[in-house]
Amino acid sequence: MKGGHLIVFSAPSGSGKTTIVKHLLDQEDLNLDFSVSATSRKPRKDEEHGKNYYFISLNEFKKHIKGGDFLEWEEVYRDNFYGTLNSEIERIWKLGKNVIFDIDVVGGLRIKKKYPDRTLAVFVKPPSVDELKIRLKKRKTESDEKIDMRIAKASIEMATAPQFDAIIENNDLKTALSEAHDLVKDFISKKKEPF
Ligand code: 5GP
Repeated sequence: MKGGHLIVFSAPSGSGKTTIVKHLLDQEDLNLDFSVSATSRKPRKDEEHGKNYYFISLNEFKKHIKGGDFLEWEEVYRDNFYGTLNSEIERIWKLGKNVIFDIDVVGGLRIKKKYPDRTLAVFVKPPSVDELKIRLKKRKTESDEKIDMRIAKASIEMATAPQFDAIIENNDLKTALSEAHDLVKDFISKKKEPF
């Protein structure tokens, strides 16, 4: 098994990309490890530091920006910063694994631009923006105001889909999981020589 590939899953919040990414991480043939992002947002119930995110203060986040420590970072929502630390990618590559990212569309496209050959950038498309709203309300992890913020952003994010290498329509989860597996498997199998 070789490593060194970058697999990006981007989508509007609530489209199901986290479920897809979690499923792929369980597939041993894909040799994946999750890129744990740093964020200035507060942990949700059940979220763990170092597992879901590195939860750091806004000040600490800004220090990392100044220090040039990020491969990419984004103020995804007002005062909620998210970013991929260079050290995280190095950690996973040292393990000889492929990196999988669950990040916003801007960050995803930045990674693709930085590493065009070794990156597979996948956009997960929800059935509709209305359906997204229903899913976010059901999830009950955000206030109504925050849900509105995420929905407003979703329409803008949907317009970036054609810039990705592949689009998965998440109408039926089982089909989406199988499509995602095939896409990643195909991509990591193609490149024969190590990076
Ligand atoms: P949440 O607050 O729901 O965990 O994440 C909000 C959004 O930020 C999601 O679209 C998530 O994929 C994105 N995100 C998570 N980590 C990163 C990152 O390192 N960089 C960027 N650009 N976006 C991220």
